[in-house]
Order: sequence, then C-alpha cells, then structure tokens
Amino acid sequence: MTLLGDAAHLMSPFAGEGANLAMFDGAQFGRAIADHPGDTEAALTAYEHALFPRSQTSAATSAANLKLMFGDNALERLLDQFTSGRP
Ligand SMILES: Cc1cc2nc3c(=O)[nH]c(=O)nc-3n(C[C@H](O)[C@H](O)[C@H](O)COP(=O)(O)OP(=O)(O)OC[C@H]3O[C@@H](n4cnc5c(N)ncnc54)[C@H](O)[C@@H]3O)c2cc1C
Repeated sequence: MTLLGDAAHLMSPFAGEGANLAMFDGAQFGRAIADHPGDTEAALTAYEHALFPRSQTSAATSAANLKLMFGDNALERLLDQFTSGRP
C-alpha cells in the first residue's frame, strides 16, 4: 500500500500544483515499478523516498499564498505583490 496525490500531500489550492503533483506521482510510481521488476517493496521505497520532498516547495508556496490572500491586509499585500515585480 502507498499514497499519491492529495492523499500523500494535501494542501490548499493556492499554488495550483495539486493535480500536477498527483499526475507526476502516478508517473513516478509507474517508473519505480518498472525499474524494480519483481520487487514491489524496493519500488515502493524508491517512490516514497522522493514523494514527500517533491511536494514540499509547492506546499510552502500554497501555505504562503493562503496567508497572503486571507491574512491581515490581504488586499494591500496582494496588490504589492502584483506591482513589485516579485514572483
Ligand atoms: C478550488 C481548487 C482549485 C484547484 N486548482 C488547481 C490548479 O489550478 N492546478 C492544480 O494542479 N491543482 C489544483 N487543485 C488541486 C487538485 O484539484 C487536487 O490536488 C487533485 O484533484 C488531487 O487529485 P487526487 O487524485 O489526489 O484526489 P481527488 O481528485 O480528490 O480524487 C480522489 C477521488 O477518490 C474518491 N474517493 C474518496 N473516498 C473514496 C472511497 N472511500 N472509495 C472510493 N473512492 C473514494 C473521491 O470521490 C475522488 O474522486 C485545485 C483544488 C481546488 C479545491
């Protein structure tokens, strides 16, 4: 048994990456199985080793954007982001 997509790394939708990550997880899981023929445990280990680090950046971006859009002074801070030239 293993996890992929939101079941592995649920986050708010404010990075716009959840579906992308879910599809990428599926592809990487398939690749891990192909790379370890007959050894499902090794395939799971390889897949899961990369699974959580892969989603960390998106999860952090999503959390920061959630705070930006629903935190104090959301309108001013969002406007500042759009006009500052920062990503
Ligand atoms: C408002 C919003 C905007 C978003 N925008 C983006 C975006 O722009 N770009 C992006 O990449 N991602 C976006 N996402 C995130 C994306 O939708 C999810 O990350 C993605 O759908 C996760 O896919 P998943 O297959 O892991 O889970 P899900 O899509 O949630 O699929 C899980 C499935 O399992 C089913 N299920 C649950 N329990 C059971 C059960 N017991 N038995 C059988 N079936 C069950 C559910 O009905 C569901 O169909 C957004 C999300 C939201 C809410």
